[in-house]
Amino acid sequence: MAQQAIVHAENSYVQFLSDITKGSEKVVISLLDDTGSEELPKFNYIPNNIIYQNANVNISLDRVADEGCCSDCLGNCLSLTFPCACSQETGGEFAYTREGLLKEKFLEACIAMKIKPQPYHFVYCQECPIYKGSEHMPEECKGHLVRKFIKECWRKCGCDMQCGNRVVQRGLRCKLQVFLTQEGKGWGIRTLEDLPKGCFVCEYVGEILTNAELYERVLHKSSKDRHTYPVTLDADWGSERVLKDDEALCLDATYNGNIARFINHRCFDANLIDIPVEVEIPDRHYYHIRVEQVWNGMKRRIIAEQVMELSAEGRDVSGGGSSSSDFIQMTHLSHPNQ
Ligand SMILES: [Zn+2]
Ligand SMILES: [Zn+2]
Ligand SMILES: [Zn+2]
Ligand SMILES: [Zn+2]
Repeated sequence: MAQQAIVHAENSYVQFLSDITKGSEKVVISLLDDTGSEELPKFNYIPNNIIYQNANVNISLDRVADEGCCSDCLGNCLSLTFPCACSQETGGEFAYTREGLLKEKFLEACIAMKIKPQPYHFVYCQECPIYKGSEHMPEECKGHLVRKFIKECWRKCGCDMQCGNRVVQRGLRCKLQVFLTQEGKGWGIRTLEDLPKGCFVCEYVGEILTNAELYERVLHKSSKDRHTYPVTLDADWGSERVLKDDEALCLDATYNGNIARFINHRCFDANLIDIPVEVEIPDRHYYHIRVEQVWNGMKRRIIAEQVMELSAEGRDVSGGGSSSSDFIQMTHLSHPNQ
């Protein structure tokens, strides 16, 4: 980012980057620090997830079954009288509206499950990739939320790229800005335009790591490195009894990531939620994370200039005091049995 213009307005010390995405998105995302006091974030912007090293993500046409796509469709799948095979995951009805928003019923169910999960929403691994403990003190799995998935059309589908069931894969469209927050929370993001409820805000993009790689990374990070909030891709761990190490994955946007790495997390009254999205492969060790605008309080839309914060399941690890094992085990604060 050093090559971009940094504007120091006279006597006001404003730092401004016109586009942190290096031109890799359809929209520009600026960065503003109107105090001029904060060190600019050091990271590499990537528009799509990428494997760091050992993660087993096998994207191939062969893995998409004929009945798992809609090769006979044309144009826009959302205009069909009878929804095609790509709506099966969401009960024979597409999760998106023709206006490109997430349907209210689907969104409400995701919010309820995230904020007030019930005991039956959790699955428990026989051998947990996260809650391992030590050889002498093995730990039991504390459970993983079984999440609702959206399934988008993909390469084997006959519809076109403007099909209403292709949203996350078409990338960022909202006008967003990274800015220095007032409340000492560091960098955050805000919208520069009004966004309706159910609007796709961005994908959570980072390096695809195995949990073992993340653990190593956190163990060896230098104390001045602020680690961003990692996302465990555990939404479907319940369907397999034992996960191989290279299939227990997470996304880490600390060194390589997109705008989502700047989203702050809060436990209550958040105006964003994350929802798993299957795009390339039905194999759900790997999937995409769609960050969604939710209805916050009485407001049905986020108005321009409003700070956007993601509903958290765990606690932020970037503050002091967390050990590296806490960092790995930080999910599921809202677990009903705890
Ligand atoms: Zn389609
Ligand atoms: Zn279709
Ligand atoms: Zn587990
Ligand atoms: Zn399709």
